[in-house]
Amino acid sequence: MHKTMNNRFEALNKATSHLPVVPSKPEGKVKDYFAADVFTRERMKEYIAEDVLNQLFDDIDNGRTIHRDIANTVAIGMRKWAMDHGATHYTHWFQPLTGGTAEKHDAFFTLNKDGLLMEEFTGDALYQQEPDASSFPSGGIRNTFEARGYSAWDPSSPVFLISDTLCIPTVFVAYTGEALDYKTPLIRSTAALCKAAREVCQFFDKQVRHVHANLGWEQEYFLVDEALYDARPDLLLTGRTLMGHLSAKNQQLEDHYFGAIPERVRNFMMDLEFEALRAGIPIRTRHNEVAPNQFEMAPIFEDVNLANDHNLLIMSIMERVARKHHFRVLLHEKPFAGVNGSGKHCNWSMQTNTGINLLAPGKNPYQNLQFVTFLVNVLMAVYKYNGLLKASIASATNEHRLGANEAPPAIISVFLGKQISEVLDKLEHASAEKGIIINAKKEMKLGVANIPEILLDNTDRNRTSPFAFTGNRFEFRAVGSSANCGAAMLALNAAVANQLFQFKAEVDKLIEKGEPKERALFKVIKSYIVTSKPIRFDGNGYSDEWKTEAAKRGLDCETSVPLIFDRYLNPDVINMFKTTEVLTEAELQSRCEVKWETYSKKLQIESRVLGDLVINHILPAAKRYQTMLLQNVLAVKQVFAEDEVRSLNEQDYSIIRRIEHHAAAIIEKVEKMTTARHKANHESPTERDKAIAYHDHVLPVMAAIREHVDDLEMIVDDELWTLPKYRELMFIH
Ligand code: ADP
Ligand code: MG
Repeated sequence: MHKTMNNRFEALNKATSHLPVVPSKPEGKVKDYFAADVFTRERMKEYIAEDVLNQLFDDIDNGRTIHRDIANTVAIGMRKWAMDHGATHYTHWFQPLTGGTAEKHDAFFTLNKDGLLMEEFTGDALYQQEPDASSFPSGGIRNTFEARGYSAWDPSSPVFLISDTLCIPTVFVAYTGEALDYKTPLIRSTAALCKAAREVCQFFDKQVRHVHANLGWEQEYFLVDEALYDARPDLLLTGRTLMGHLSAKNQQLEDHYFGAIPERVRNFMMDLEFEALRAGIPIRTRHNEVAPNQFEMAPIFEDVNLANDHNLLIMSIMERVARKHHFRVLLHEKPFAGVNGSGKHCNWSMQTNTGINLLAPGKNPYQNLQFVTFLVNVLMAVYKYNGLLKASIASATNEHRLGANEAPPAIISVFLGKQISEVLDKLEHASAEKGIIINAKKEMKLGVANIPEILLDNTDRNRTSPFAFTGNRFEFRAVGSSANCGAAMLALNAAVANQLFQFKAEVDKLIEKGEPKERALFKVIKSYIVTSKPIRFDGNGYSDEWKTEAAKRGLDCETSVPLIFDRYLNPDVINMFKTTEVLTEAELQSRCEVKWETYSKKLQIESRVLGDLVINHILPAAKRYQTMLLQNVLAVKQVFAEDEVRSLNEQDYSIIRRIEHHAAAIIEKVEKMTTARHKANHESPTERDKAIAYHDHVLPVMAAIREHVDDLEMIVDDELWTLPKYRELMFIH
């Protein structure tokens, strides 16, 4: 049959005929279905004996190992609940270093010795599994013939159902005990933070037994119609557009941000929220973001380990629900050049078992001194480990959002806002004697007028800061939308824990020397305020002046992602992770290997896809148009008199030459890119070298090719262009 339409027009026809799918959200109240698919503590009581449960909860709450007998009884109850709800399979659900989550499904039944079907799910199966893990990256910790990795139950995160499968959140560790995932060190980091923060809390309140970290993530994403997505091999294979001229209208008017959510998108969101709520994820907000077709969702914050599980779960739910609505969800940090990218702001705070948020100004001066203590320790930690924190959010995908021309620079700084900055400035200049006055009634007064009642003005916001104080928490905004937040959170927890240990030691030393406690606290706080000053920046983080200023202040200004990964192996960082027992040197080394390897692989794929698209889509379309113009030139020559031909053909000549110029440049650069790729693959002695080669020699050529392609898109006849354009990808829903 004659091909009448190119891919793009077929896709456009399909996309515009997609009608909104009616959401399956029921009429009922949220409380009727919230956590319906979760084996909650409440529900466990119906399936498991009380004494066993009490023991289990006590062990979980105090971070103790669960005894096998307990696990066995719990497993039986779990299976019963799951099967009552239609489950036939179970899976250990874990977080490999490649990102995302992994699962291996097993059936609940087995055959007994007479060959009869028997339902079985023992404590052992709950406790530990050996997924055939040789294909997950380990950065050399396991060599392939010793490819044994275990997934082991994390009882602090409840099990849940996804259709017919019981999902058990697990850690993933090597046979020799090293962590092969994000969850293991995240749990270790919360233990370190709990210990360190609890010790510091004793200065203020002896009742504090436990401190945990909270995480409230804000997930940004784009939606694209499925048919258009399918017609863009770059989106399909790399998650971002490798080419595409900016749409005439994009985000200039910021009308999307304030606009109503389109019906088709709203239906998707309703379904997504319904599923999230069933899975026990307390989703609360949804709104449009700055870029066209960009959205955000955020839950109520939870304990960091659970919140991270929930974020990973929602990412997979989003992909599934989007497909039901003929959308594809883009979690990539920069799917479209020239408009905002997507991040995942991580709102982080510390909270005591007595219900105090350690990062919220308190009700009395004593609580405020505690608040300032924790605030200043976070500042110090971020200051000392700003390079590490940057490494924890760096990736091949986030690189396009941070550090590229149009994006915020890859420099970590802290925004405090006017009020808190003033408080710290006053404390810095107060004398130790006047700084803290304790009257006869043992009331304490800080020598700073506004400390007893710090009323925070929430409008004091700075959207350009990668790490901002927002009234009762810090918001780590540099985290990428596709990332496992665990990487950033474990680095932050560990750095703050380490800092709090040091703070405690310094204060104790002064007390030993005879300083009163409050004075000792004040002195150390004051010295921290001075030392950590370079990390504080309330100005425009996107400006060029800031780059210069940050370098002067000695902040980490490295922009090359493979080199940023080196920060994990700084002696200081290795030591910090060792002291806090979050990661060993071997684990850090293997993590870096995996990061470098993943970086190269992502760029390798992108570069190949770009090469293919340019040769198979772009150049043929350009050449076809050029031929049309050449035919026109000839026709003009036949029809018109010689003295008229020149001026009539002038414009065509010019376009023909421009196409020729771009086509020649593209061919030359694709060859250059292929050579650079081969060289990177075959001549790099280490994974680090390979990643550096990709960054230095492949990535820039890709950007150069793109420029020519985007210029061609503006020249070539729209009818001949085969890839859906930005204006179509971003504005059709
Ligand atoms: P905004 O968009 O203004 O930053 P949101 O209302 O979207 O704020 O909230 C952002 C996230 O911060 C939510 O997940 C919320 O639960 C979380 N959050 C609020 N208070 C805290 C806190 N003390 N610790 C951690 N996260 C918090
Ligand atoms: Mg926010």
